Amino acid sequence: MNLIFLGPPGAGKGTQAKLLTEKYNIPQISTGDILRGAVREATPMGVKAKGFMESGALVPDEVVIGIVEERLAKPDCVKGFILDGFPRTVAQADALQRMLNGLDRAIEHVISVEVDNAELLERMAGRRTCRACGRGYHVTFDQPKVKDRCECGGELYQRDDDREETIRKRLTVYEAQTAPLKQYYAGESLLRPISGIGSIDEIQRRIVAIIEGRQG
Ligand SMILES: [Zn+2]
Repeated sequence: MNLIFLGPPGAGKGTQAKLLTEKYNIPQISTGDILRGAVREATPMGVKAKGFMESGALVPDEVVIGIVEERLAKPDCVKGFILDGFPRTVAQADALQRMLNGLDRAIEHVISVEVDNAELLERMAGRRTCRACGRGYHVTFDQPKVKDRCECGGELYQRDDDREETIRKRLTVYEAQTAPLKQYYAGESLLRPISGIGSIDEIQRRIVAIIEGRQG
């Protein structure tokens, strides 16, 4: 069960990936985490990556791929894995494909959680945060008892990250980055778009139906 997860910010991709790791007992692999892990453990690729990071350079694709390969060699990946946030480019997708071929493994599904921008904007731009205790609310889905006030009495405000303009920019960047990747995986007959609208359970059922071959 070798999966890649795609989805824009606010689509609930992380929640869904986490549920699958519990259901199928396979790890969720995010490159940021494993990069830090490899550096900490000083694996051969981690040592290389550290050199680039210390000189302020981006870690090149071949080193990132090497780190993913080291991670996939660990026993918890025997049954499968969920790649989250990687690959980001077609070049990385190509390199991943070659690396997996060498291991006699292959990606089975690229699950793309699709939510339209209007819905994402409503979800994200409606977030409010307490200045005093940091608790999160939502103007529609998780309203405070008293308008603009936290339970603790603190004032609720909208973080810069949750402003409509910031969200629009992030969504535009995501689309520009992901469109070629989706095209690539569609060409490989691996792309499985699913609707990210509905309850967490409903979305989970859609994903499980794909994984277990009960599409439609
Ligand atoms: Zn508060």
